[in-house]
Amino acid sequence: MVKVFIPETLEGALRIRTLHETLIINGGTDVMVKYRCWNGMPPNFSMDVLHIGNLAELKRIEIVEGKLMIGAAVTLSELLEHPLVPDYIKLPIRQMASPAIRNMGTLAGNLCNASSSGDSLPMLYALEAEATLASMHGTRKLPVAQFITFAKQTLLQPDELVTEIMIPLSDFPIVYYRKVGGRKVNAISKASFYAVAIKKAGVIEDVRIAFGSVAPTAVRDRACEEILIRTSEAELDAKIETLRTRYGELFAPLNDTRSTADYRRRVSLQLLEDFIGRGLAK
Ligand SMILES: Cc1cc2nc3c(=O)[nH]c(=O)nc-3n(C[C@H](O)[C@H](O)[C@H](O)COP(=O)(O)OP(=O)(O)OC[C@H]3O[C@@H](n4cnc5c(N)ncnc54)[C@H](O)[C@@H]3O)c2cc1C
Repeated sequence: MVKVFIPETLEGALRIRTLHETLIINGGTDVMVKYRCWNGMPPNFSMDVLHIGNLAELKRIEIVEGKLMIGAAVTLSELLEHPLVPDYIKLPIRQMASPAIRNMGTLAGNLCNASSSGDSLPMLYALEAEATLASMHGTRKLPVAQFITFAKQTLLQPDELVTEIMIPLSDFPIVYYRKVGGRKVNAISKASFYAVAIKKAGVIEDVRIAFGSVAPTAVRDRACEEILIRTSEAELDAKIETLRTRYGELFAPLNDTRSTADYRRRVSLQLLEDFIGRGLAK
């Protein structure tokens, strides 16, 4: 018989993680789908369950040393409504799921689920977010690009949980996000593209670009971004072909029920071209 733990404190949750092998449930919007059973039957959990979605200590949103700290149990709706969260972080979240799912689902859940099509991941990679992992033995911080090792795989240890996501804050006047799915809401991405940039006097000072759904993890490559940095608007077009080739080599898209590898590759490179040609040239 599977046990369900609902601790009242973070310390209690960490103790349970140490003493029992547990499946963490946060908002449950991925977990409940994964373990769903026949109509009217309880979910088919393979181990004890630890519910962390109500822990007050994981519900905070604060700015700490220039970084936005988002507690692991903050729902996507709470994030969208919070005045401390800048629009360039809200943009991809607004297009995730539907209001009902956003009222339950969390950013930490999207990160820890580590799906190649997780819609927050390109934004988290581009903004160089970090995950804070806690256990009874202490905490450690990992860049999200290290925390996720492959599709559905992370460095989370059995006695740990993610307590917060830290996102360095900056001023990005140029923000571009496109999600390509089968419909407007409740659609898992076929492809997605997130980019932010800073331009001064018509010259690119910084740019961050990340793709979703074209490889086991989100794709971001600083060497490609460097090709655009210090480029003036007039020189942008000349860089498109090189970047299409370089990014194309980093992609390893899947053929699955949602889309074909060829479509994912073509549409992602078109979004890159649109960002460089229109988003950056603005
Ligand atoms: C109808 C529907 C539409 C959806 N649409 C989208 C969409 O458009 N885009 C998208 O990206 N996703 C979508 N999703 C997937 C899901 O809603 C998101 O991934 C959501 O962010 C998951 O958050 P959660 O808190 O519900 O995670 P949960 O289901 O609670 O957990 C997900 C995984 O993360 C682990 N986990 C959660 N929190 C922690 C933690 N703090 N520490 C360690 N491990 C943890 C869990 O053990 C589990 O493995 C959709 C789901 C549904 C059902």
